[in-house]
Amino acid sequence: MTDAVEYPDLVVVGAGLFGLTVAQQAVERLGVRVEIIDVRDHIGGNAYSYMDEETGAEIHKYGAHLFHTSNRRVWDYVNRFTSFTSYVHRVYATHDGEVYPLPINLGTINQFFHARYTPAEAKALIDGQAGELAGTDPQNLNDKGISLIGRPLYEAFIKNYTGKQWQTDPAELPAAIIKRLPVRFNYDNRYFRDTWEGLPTDGYTAWMERMIDDPRIHATLRTDFFDESQPYNRKALAAAGVPVVYTGPVDRYFGYELGDLKWRTVDFKEVRYDEDDHFGCPVMNFSDADVPYTRAIEFKNFNPERRDAQNHNRTVVWEEYSRFAERGDEPYYPINTDADKALYERYAARAAAEPNVVFGGRLGTYKYYDMHNVIDAALTAYEEQVAPMLRAR
Ligand code: FAD
Ligand code: UDP
Repeated sequence: MTDAVEYPDLVVVGAGLFGLTVAQQAVERLGVRVEIIDVRDHIGGNAYSYMDEETGAEIHKYGAHLFHTSNRRVWDYVNRFTSFTSYVHRVYATHDGEVYPLPINLGTINQFFHARYTPAEAKALIDGQAGELAGTDPQNLNDKGISLIGRPLYEAFIKNYTGKQWQTDPAELPAAIIKRLPVRFNYDNRYFRDTWEGLPTDGYTAWMERMIDDPRIHATLRTDFFDESQPYNRKALAAAGVPVVYTGPVDRYFGYELGDLKWRTVDFKEVRYDEDDHFGCPVMNFSDADVPYTRAIEFKNFNPERRDAQNHNRTVVWEEYSRFAERGDEPYYPINTDADKALYERYAARAAAEPNVVFGGRLGTYKYYDMHNVIDAALTAYEEQVAPMLRAR
């Protein structure tokens, strides 16, 4: 069956932002023909979204996606395909019957301690509380958290949330996870510190469709790279020497020969309310252990500029439940313990030696990448690996 196939110049496995960026670059810069395959029934990978007819909310199917970057190359690149709204991400957290602003800032600190500390007073207080680990260089999330914000705030806002999210002892998790969450001694509660942020004006899917709107790019959906009954499978492409960019899980590519990399996945429970606005914000975190989910997303609130087109009597909320991924689950977050990192390095060595295949993206390189990181990595991988591979043919 595969004999009759006329192969394209490049096959991209995975229609997420890594695969789409590489495909777009290959066509624009070398004029090649690209086939993108994805096992799902849509493009966009985890950044895919769809419109909910009942409420007018744009639902991010794989969890809330907020675009932010300080990388000029990435910002210029994405703006070729979409404009962005003026949305600024802000998150609130419910703890012990009260709602607090996140990330932890002077508002959180003063509400928590029922005080009116100035920035300097709050800093002195937190430095004192964090002092139990003074002089150490914390390498794990537990110690890093305590050294950043002191034990009382750590136990209120980080410990149980992290426990629910990672189901791994925070003492086993890399400190880098918590570096994502800043602490501020003023009332600034912008979640991200990046130069640019916003949501794609016409939605994520319209943005990503524009990236591959070219007759030289073709996408085949519901197609698994490892299914040998379809022509763009691993074995057939290797035999024909067709260049491949692979953005699926790296351990899956090698048949899990060295063992399984550990991932976390997320289950979503949809709840609909006969209300215009249930939380008053797009993301409410639940810091305590008695609420089984980590956070709830109220999608309508991401797009206040679409209010006229939204239903004012109904809203849709997704509660997010986190757990270890088994084989067959969607692998979302690399867990990245030291053992995982060592295992990944062994897979990475195998990947580097694989002829005609470039591995990329969150799954292909086992990295806790945001969208802007993935696009940046794809632009670099195109220049340094994919273009040379295509030119060598
Ligand atoms: P993916 O988007 O995962 O795409 C990989 C594609 O490969 C998938 O479509 C998959 O179906 C396909 N595939 C896998 N195996 C095969 C196979 N065997 N055959 C064919 N196709 C295959 N980033 C942000 O910047 N801001 C956020 O707020 C944010 N929130 C997030 C929230 C959640 C819950 C998650 C999971 C991620 C979030 N991210 C966020 C990260 C963002 O989703 C990623 O950085 C980005 O989507 C990764 O792109 P990718 O192309 O590497 O991978
Ligand atoms: N975190 C926390 N409490 C919160 C929010 C985040 O303890 O209310 C910790 C948690 O360990 C999480 C990390 O900070 O994994 C990063 O959170 P962020 O919301 O940036 O991550 P995301 O889940 O969106 O990737």
